[in-house]
Amino acid sequence: MNDNTQSDFIQRFLFEGHSVRGQWISLSTSVNELMSGHNYPDAVKKQLKFAALAANLLTETLKFEGRLTLQTQSGGDLKLLLIQANHQHEFRGVARFNSAIENSDDLKILMPGAQMALTIEPKNGKRYQGIVPMHQHSLAENLEDYFQQSEQLPTRIWLFANNEKAVGLMLQSMPGASDVADLDHLAQLAATLSEDEALSLASDTILHRLFHQDPLRLFPSTAIKYSCGCSREKSSTSLSLVPKEELHEILREEGKVELTCEFCQTQYVYDSIDVEQVLANSGHDMNQSTGKTVQ
Ligand SMILES: [Zn+2]
Repeated sequence: MNDNTQSDFIQRFLFEGHSVRGQWISLSTSVNELMSGHNYPDAVKKQLKFAALAANLLTETLKFEGRLTLQTQSGGDLKLLLIQANHQHEFRGVARFNSAIENSDDLKILMPGAQMALTIEPKNGKRYQGIVPMHQHSLAENLEDYFQQSEQLPTRIWLFANNEKAVGLMLQSMPGASDVADLDHLAQLAATLSEDEALSLASDTILHRLFHQDPLRLFPSTAIKYSCGCSREKSSTSLSLVPKEELHEILREEGKVELTCEFCQTQYVYDSIDVEQVLANSGHDMNQSTGKTVQ
């Protein structure tokens, strides 16, 4: 059954007559939660939504158990886009930018000379990282380059976003497919999808409209949700790594120690009693400095 009552989901499909597979992704509640607490300008919101779509498409494609991090970095006004997603289809993320950022859709303007890094941390097994330069104007095209270079899988991707939601369509040659004629044919059909249609119509309506002459098999959709995963407990662990003297100095000056999660902006506040408890529970006094972020 195709369940389109979900607001945040990813759905895989296969073309019966072609060596091509596809994915449709739609995110609304989750991307709104991703923006919450941050004052992102419109241009940043849009690219961060695209990154959320991309990371979830990658997670669904590269079957593994663990965590995937998609990170793009540049010396331009959009300094960082970072999304972490896991095999349970939960994700979180953050962007960094200069406040003077131009309202543009063009990554060559927002992120000149950017690099895209994909890190996979499987539950069991070795960490993998691939880094590719970003030569294209959009994240979708840069992702296509990534699949071509790193996976040798010809891939076409379309990403759309407005204030309410973000949607994406991916078509990919099956591993081992001998030529890309099938993909080219289907990509020509997919390219007729307008932004308005993509963001307003239900996924089965869209897939039918685009591919009604190419029978496809839909797999059940999978729910995606925003989940930061931070907690007071993890925050206390970070705190216990800060040298005791440093904590006491902050307490003297501020009366409390505050740790803010850089992803969801949750504040974890510790008064002097809390701090002593954390130090007592950690049972050690490591002389190691840390940043102010909570993982
Ligand atoms: Zn958090």
